[in-house]
Amino acid sequence: MAMRPFIIGNWKMNGTRAMLGEARAIDRAAQRLMKVEVAIAPPFTLIHAVHREVEQIGVGAQDCHTGTDGAFTGDVSASMVADAGAKFVILGHSERREGHGESDALIRQKADDALEAGLRLVLCCGESEKVRDSGKAEKFVLDQLRASLPPLEDGADAVAEQIAVAYEPIWAIGTGKTASIADIEEIHAAIRGLLVETYGDEAGSEIRILYGGSVKAENAAEILAAEHVGGALVGGASLSAESFLGIVIAASDIETN
Ligand code: PEP
Repeated sequence: MAMRPFIIGNWKMNGTRAMLGEARAIDRAAQRLMKVEVAIAPPFTLIHAVHREVEQIGVGAQDCHTGTDGAFTGDVSASMVADAGAKFVILGHSERREGHGESDALIRQKADDALEAGLRLVLCCGESEKVRDSGKAEKFVLDQLRASLPPLEDGADAVAEQIAVAYEPIWAIGTGKTASIADIEEIHAAIRGLLVETYGDEAGSEIRILYGGSVKAENAAEILAAEHVGGALVGGASLSAESFLGIVIAASDIETN
């Protein structure tokens, strides 16, 4: 089964109910762009409202806490975001790893709990500029993933539905810099190798590997056409329907990798 390109908007700590109109506009357009799987991850406070407003696009959370409930002031569990309408959760974003000290082991625990709650996973990885300059980006990214990929045992199509990996070099996030196509292809090929090793040939070849880091309408076509790129995780450019849809349209115009 060839998977559709997957374009996810990560709204981060942006958005009040005034932004629901953007979600509606994205949803309406996505109904005409069925070659692409489109989703947004609003802040926790908007998950339920966005879920109620949209028909076509997926709605997800940007993170979740481990466990299901308990004395964790300010935290929200996977089962709680699923109850609010989320169908997937982004885990291991560098802003969680760096800003909240999240380890690979914690991300792996969250992955297990999210799967238990019936959520699909978008597992992020990516190196800092220092690691890239030291020539160790590939090893760094593979080590992150090896330590956080959960076991998935339900058959190839189901595995590919349950997880996507997002490669996001930290130095490219929100900076306007993007990795070169050659660098993206090199890391994505290495991730593909690890996914095949972990989940077997069929599932490992189907799982979508998204690129993230300053993707916008102007550079999306070239990035999305690169080998082993199965979509994009988009921050800043997902905050308006107009800029986000430019990326979705670019994805709709390319062949699936
Ligand atoms: C992100 O934070 O996932 C991201 C890719 O952000 P931006 O598109 O703004 O670089």
